[in-house]
Amino acid sequence: MSIDLVENLSIPAESAPVLGSPYDPSSFDRSVMTTYGRFPLALEKGEGCKVWDTQGREYLDFVAGIATCTLGHAHSALVETVIRQIQTLHHVSNLYYIPVQGQLAKKLIDTSCADRVFFCNSGAEANEGAIKLARKYAHTVKKIDEPIILTATASFHGRTLATITATGQPKYQKDFSPLVPGFHYVPYNDVKAVETAITELDSGDRGVAAILLEPLQGEGGVRPGDRAYFQRLRDICDETGILLMLDEVQVGVGRTGKLWGYENLGIEPDVFTSAKGLGGGIPIGAMLCKSFCDVFNPGDHASTFGGNPLACAAALCVLETIERDLLLQNVVERGEQLRAGLKAILAKYSNIVAEVRGWGLINGMELAQDIPLTSSDVVKAAMNEGLLLVPAGPKVIRFVPPLIVSAFEVDTALQALERAIIAVV
Ligand code: PLP
Repeated sequence: MSIDLVENLSIPAESAPVLGSPYDPSSFDRSVMTTYGRFPLALEKGEGCKVWDTQGREYLDFVAGIATCTLGHAHSALVETVIRQIQTLHHVSNLYYIPVQGQLAKKLIDTSCADRVFFCNSGAEANEGAIKLARKYAHTVKKIDEPIILTATASFHGRTLATITATGQPKYQKDFSPLVPGFHYVPYNDVKAVETAITELDSGDRGVAAILLEPLQGEGGVRPGDRAYFQRLRDICDETGILLMLDEVQVGVGRTGKLWGYENLGIEPDVFTSAKGLGGGIPIGAMLCKSFCDVFNPGDHASTFGGNPLACAAALCVLETIERDLLLQNVVERGEQLRAGLKAILAKYSNIVAEVRGWGLINGMELAQDIPLTSSDVVKAAMNEGLLLVPAGPKVIRFVPPLIVSAFEVDTALQALERAIIAVV
């Protein structure tokens, strides 16, 4: 690869759709484990907020890799950055200093309440890091021998053993016992439940070490956190020394119209995690904390790929592009436009749609409980209308487009959604 290629690829990809024969998934299904319930759609090209399937059909992508493709597809800045970095240095061990990792850490610290960062590759891995940090903090600073982490029912924190245990949804835990000990679940947005749990769990060697929550529950149905609830939890944590840890994996990096989800709640966490949108689709995760609770020493935690130069350059590019292109403003404006449009649909089809909720460009439309229609039915119908959406549970349809989405694309998506609703009822 020469530098000329970088120049060539900096030109936006040709917009003509890729034409091909219908994709036959049988070989794929024989060789790839069936851990996903896949839609019958094979995607092979993307540009901006659009993707194309193998037959050249165009779709408006309001899934964005599930809140991951922050800058959409084939964004020229990300394309150039990744090519330049892979030509320079794409991976070295964390046994050496990696300057671009340091630059990314500084950027994250300068733009958040955190003082220190650990880099990894995914949301689950970032949450594992937070869980380990909380346990070590409990053992070494708080002298708690059996630390408990409180998490919320209907939460989602990942698919590793510790993070499915942290996840307060039995469907993700079924058949994987024995689970990891040391977690206790409380209802979301319920202060009393937290107070009761802290009192009841505090006995002998046991005690609550940390509370791990999403600022807005994503997979659990796009349920925003309540400001008064989080502010009270902040006070409780200050009074007791319990760590307040926020899982920003789905809502961080501008998705809510603020860079970090916690900014919507008027509080600062002690620890927070990021992944999904951080690299705009290039895998990277991060666990960030205030310096007082950074108890990790050399050898305590590690990740071979974590924070490699390629992923860090991509994440820096994402953060700089959000800033340079004033994308937070776009998220606020397009989010208001989208919610207004969804509420107009609710008003028109109030027997089908029960509620619309969300922040910025993470929004959910809940279907009426008393009708047999599921979110998957609507998602499939929307796909037929050229719009990609993703369920957040059986009754909630989630809208998480790239942060670069235009007013025209939001209107187009709303029209496609209405056609889809008409088609399924
Ligand atoms: N935490 C939250 C809030 C998430 O939404 C997700 C994924 O959906 C995860 C953690 C897990 O992230 P990953 O799939 O990158 O491990």
